[in-house]
Amino acid sequence: IFVRTPIIAGNWKMNMNPEQTAEFVKAVKDKLPKATEVEAVIAAPAVDLPALLENAKGSELKVAAENCYFEDEGAFTGETSPKVLKEMGVDYVIIGHSERRDYFHETDEDINKKAHAIFNNGMTPIVCCGESLETREAGKAEEWVEAQVKAALKDLTAEQVANLVIAYEPIWAIGTGKTATSDQAEEICAVVRKTVADLYDQDVADKVRIQYGGSVKPANVKELMAKPNIDGGLVGGASLVPESYLELVNFND
Ligand code: PEP
Repeated sequence: IFVRTPIIAGNWKMNMNPEQTAEFVKAVKDKLPKATEVEAVIAAPAVDLPALLENAKGSELKVAAENCYFEDEGAFTGETSPKVLKEMGVDYVIIGHSERRDYFHETDEDINKKAHAIFNNGMTPIVCCGESLETREAGKAEEWVEAQVKAALKDLTAEQVANLVIAYEPIWAIGTGKTATSDQAEEICAVVRKTVADLYDQDVADKVRIQYGGSVKPANVKELMAKPNIDGGLVGGASLVPESYLELVNFND
């Protein structure tokens, strides 16, 4: 059986400046797990990436951007180039976070274009999906997430998808303190894996890493990570403090 390396990613959102970034990395950099055992990632705002990359140098910490554009360069005022992110040393890019879909009108088509651009530049997308409370209560969570995953993965190769990270984040659990139960999280993460198996094959589905996100914290990370289809966490609030970030990435200890 294929063993997937767990991946815990902090998503700082718009909460840190370069000075705080440098302090955070200094506090965690020598206490991280080996990246071959658990990948510890921080996703930071574009303005903090130079400080994050500089301070993370030589450590096990991997660096993610929280978004990028789908073109490498050109007349796109205010956007972030995936080509430049790669040149800077960024490993991952989060795309399709529910905040970007809701507040910035990012569509499934945009997300798919971004996934292609990120792979074409030698980085790995972390593709977010997840249903609203209304969709869940209508009994449509599974079909909603399946449709989002299919749209995001359109025309990606099997090799690309085998390396992809997909984050299942029920919108009703993000920043609300309401975690999906580990059974609810597992249920939809299994749907995500099955969607990949249907689109590609079981081998690709066995390799894709699936994170759960939504009020993950030190107190619930172990139970979530014990589920067979949950390979990691995408963590907002609890990733902002070095102590809790370290507890999360060292969940195995
Ligand atoms: C997120 O930002 O993706 C998230 C899941 O946030 P929180 O952990 O704060 O719920």
